[in-house]
Formats: sequence, structure tokens, C-alpha cells
Amino acid sequence: MHEMSIVQALLDRVEAEAEAHAASAVVVVRVAIGTQSGVEPDLVRSAFDLARAGTRCAEAELVIRSVEAVWACVACARPLAAGERLRCPRCGAPARLASGDEILLERLELEVA
Ligand SMILES: [Zn+2]
Repeated sequence: MHEMSIVQALLDRVEAEAEAHAASAVVVVRVAIGTQSGVEPDLVRSAFDLARAGTRCAEAELVIRSVEAVWACVACARPLAAGERLRCPRCGAPARLASGDEILLERLELEVA
């Protein structure tokens, strides 16, 4: 499951943050998932429930926000609207997904003992 490796990477990052702040537990994990990412929020939620056992996230609330994908030109970085996402009208270079892919850790609430 694609989502499991994404969640594992997310948990690794969260654990590292919690460690860096000497937190005893993670209270809230807030992530953004791009609508073009191919990542299913429901699967992320179930993967999170499975993977978090024994981590500082064991009691954490997972908040998932959906974000619209943003496309941009690879050459000039001009942001592209949804209708023109294949090629940049300014320089003709192909567009790529600038954000909205995969999953982004937006915010953490930590419990510090
Ligand atoms: Zn361009």
C-alpha cells in the first residue's frame, strides 16, 4: 500500500520533531494532501492507526486537509491555471506539479513534560 510508506515517512518526521522538542507525546498531527496526489485520505487514516502504535503519536489526533494542486512551468516557474496546465503559454515548456503532490506536514501540537 502506497499510503503505508507515506505514513511511515510522516511518522519518522513527527518522531524526529517530537524528539527535538523533548515532547512526551504528540497531541495533533495536521497534514495537507493534494487532490492530485493519488493519496487517499481514508487509507492514510487507516495506515496511521496501524503504524502509530508504540510511537509518541499513539494518542494523537490526525487532521487531514485537502489542498488543490498547483501547477507551474518547469522553465520560468510561472503558475499555471487548471485549463492551461500542459504547456506554459509564456515559454512553451511543460508544466509540472508545483505543489499538491503527496502529503505535507503542516502543523504539530506536542505535549512537553
Ligand atoms: Zn514558462
